Amino acid sequence: MLIIDMHAHIGDLRMRPDEPGRPVTWENLLARLDAEGITKAAMLPVYNSSPEGAPPGVALLDGRMSVHDQVIDAGRYPDRIIPFGNMDPRWLDNNPHTDFTPLLDWFIDHGCRGIGEVTARLPFDDPRVINMFRQCGERGLLVTIESAGMQAGTYGLQDEPNMPRLERLLQAAPQTLIIAHGPGFWAEMAANVSPADKWAYPDGPIEQEGAAWRLLRAYPNLYADLSAHSGYNAITRDAPAGARFLNEFQDKLLFGTDICFDDSPQRGIHQRYLTSLLEQGALSESAYVKIMGANAARLLDID
Ligand SMILES: [Zn+2]
Repeated sequence: MLIIDMHAHIGDLRMRPDEPGRPVTWENLLARLDAEGITKAAMLPVYNSSPEGAPPGVALLDGRMSVHDQVIDAGRYPDRIIPFGNMDPRWLDNNPHTDFTPLLDWFIDHGCRGIGEVTARLPFDDPRVINMFRQCGERGLLVTIESAGMQAGTYGLQDEPNMPRLERLLQAAPQTLIIAHGPGFWAEMAANVSPADKWAYPDGPIEQEGAAWRLLRAYPNLYADLSAHSGYNAITRDAPAGARFLNEFQDKLLFGTDICFDDSPQRGIHQRYLTSLLEQGALSESAYVKIMGANAARLLDID
């Protein structure tokens, strides 16, 4: 069975030198894929950004965290690694009409299939964001987003509760296939979230379906990856509702890990949980196969 991790990273993502966590290297990433039976991984470059584009909260220790180098290095593993490029909507000349052709052409020439994760702290419907997303979609590049609320001290594209700004972006860039990720999106499994919930992991039962359901139903260009604690929490906080969500959106959900350290305690949690649902009969075999890799293979034109 084809298993694709749609959300992998490389590098030293510690914020402080005394922070624990073994950096992810190409060697230990490939060893993890082998150990977990994962066929391929999409590598989403994380970068040390310019002061203008700096996402607060991401102060990475690896001075070599360049998007360029990560994409070039990914080319050594064409059978296992699907490279993404990455950009900030403020790069080049920071206006709503910036032409990203030079960057996009370079990424496509180097085998990139998407852009992301986009971590810029800008509202989803900022004209610079819409402009960049449209240009990605025109070239068939997927775009993976990090998402947060409007508050200070976060990183990722920003929105209010109920996600009106993401909805405007989906409408303004209908050709662009957007892969949702991060706490700002996954907080909206339940209705009536607070602004603070969008940079947190709200738990407990889902009494009323939130905007994540509404937008996935309404917009063919919206997908989501289940990676990180945010995605895991969304499908486990209320197990019956989570299973209902996985079955309903089995054509639009993508397995991913977002493992940022080789010794992360989150290793394997998504895969084990989805497999347990299959074994209990809470998730159909066909839904399991699609979520674990077949949907990603379809988006990426992989056999
Ligand atoms: Zn990530």
